Amino acid sequence: MTGFDYRSMTRPELEAALADLGQPRYRAGQFFSWLQKGVTSFDEMTNLPASLRQTLAEKGYLANAAVEARFVSQIDGTVKYLFRLNDGNLIEGVLMSYHHGYSLCVSTQVGCRMGCSFCASTVDGLTRSLTASEILAQIMTASRTEGVRVSHIVLMGMGEPFDNYGAVVRFLELVGAPEGLNIGARHISLSTCGRVDGIRRFMELGSQVTLSISLHAPNDEIRSRLMPINKKYGVDELLDACRDYIAATGRRISFEYAMIRGVNDTDACAEELAAKLKGMLCHVNLIPANEIRENDYRRSDAARLKQFQALLEKRGLTVTVRRTLGADVSASCGQLRQHRQ
Ligand code: SAH
Repeated sequence: MTGFDYRSMTRPELEAALADLGQPRYRAGQFFSWLQKGVTSFDEMTNLPASLRQTLAEKGYLANAAVEARFVSQIDGTVKYLFRLNDGNLIEGVLMSYHHGYSLCVSTQVGCRMGCSFCASTVDGLTRSLTASEILAQIMTASRTEGVRVSHIVLMGMGEPFDNYGAVVRFLELVGAPEGLNIGARHISLSTCGRVDGIRRFMELGSQVTLSISLHAPNDEIRSRLMPINKKYGVDELLDACRDYIAATGRRISFEYAMIRGVNDTDACAEELAAKLKGMLCHVNLIPANEIRENDYRRSDAARLKQFQALLEKRGLTVTVRRTLGADVSASCGQLRQHRQ
C-alpha cells in the first residue's frame, strides 16, 4: 500500500491533504464522512466528482478489513470474524452482545511476538503490526455486516497493543472523534501482557481507557514460565507501574487471571495474589483457561475456581469470573489465530 492511508488520518489532516490537491474544505468533510461510514471503495463516494475519486485513488488507499469468514456461536450468538486485510493477511475479531450494547474485540497485530505459552495468537509469531486504520476497519466491517452500532471496544484480540504503541494511540484518538465513530475512552478496554514501558508511556496521556493487565500468576517463578515478558518486567515492577497508573489516572485496573489446572490455581497462589494486590484500586477477572491444541494446559475445574474466588474475596478483592463466549467457534480468549480452522 502506498501513498496516504486515508482511514488513519484525522479530519484536519485530510483537510490539509485535500487543500494540497486544490480542493475546497467541504470536500474533505464529505470524504471524511464516507471514510467514517466504512465504505470500502472510492466508487461508493457518490457525492465526490469522478475525477476527484480517481485522484484520491491514485494518491492513497482505503485500509479495509474484509470478511473472509464469519462464524456465529450457536450457544450465545457471539460472532467471530476472520478478516482479510488489503495485503491478504488474516486477523480475527469477535462481536459480543451484552445488555449495554455490542462490544467488539479487535486485533492490534497480525500474530504476536510475546510468546505466552498458553495463547494461540502467538504460535506463529508476529507477521506485522496493524495500522490505526486497520484496527478501525474491523469495527466498521462488523458494524456494517450486522447492521448494528458497536458501542464498546476491547483491544484484546490478537497482538500486544503496547508492542504497536503509536498506531494504537492514534486509533484511540480516531475512534473517539465526535465526528467519527464517537466511541469514548470509557467504553474502551486495553489489555497488555505487562509491557511496563507501554503502561508508563500511556499513563502520561491521562487517558480514561480501562487498562487490563494479563497477570495470570502471583510471582515471578510461575509467571516467567507462562509469559516470557516477565523476564524483562517482573511482577513487582509491573505492580509498581500499575499503582502509579492508578495514582495518575484515578482509574481502576482490571487484572486478568486465566485459571490453569495445577499451574496457578492453588490456594497458595490465591493467598499470594491477594497479598500482592492488597489496597489497590483494582478488580480481578478470573478466566477459566481456554484449551488450545498446541499445549497441554487444562482449565481448572469449577470447584477450584470457586474456592480461588472465595479466597480472594475473603481478602477483600473484587472478583468476577469471565463468561466464556463463542466457545463453539473458538472465539474465546487466547484462541484467536491468523489463519482459518
Ligand atoms: N496481548 C494482550 C492482549 C490480548 S488479550 C494481553 O496479553 O493482554 C487476550 C487475553 O486472553 C489475555 O489476557 C491473555 O492472557 C488471555 N489468554 C490467552 N490465552 C488464553 C487461554 N488459553 N485461556 C484464557 N485466556 C487466555
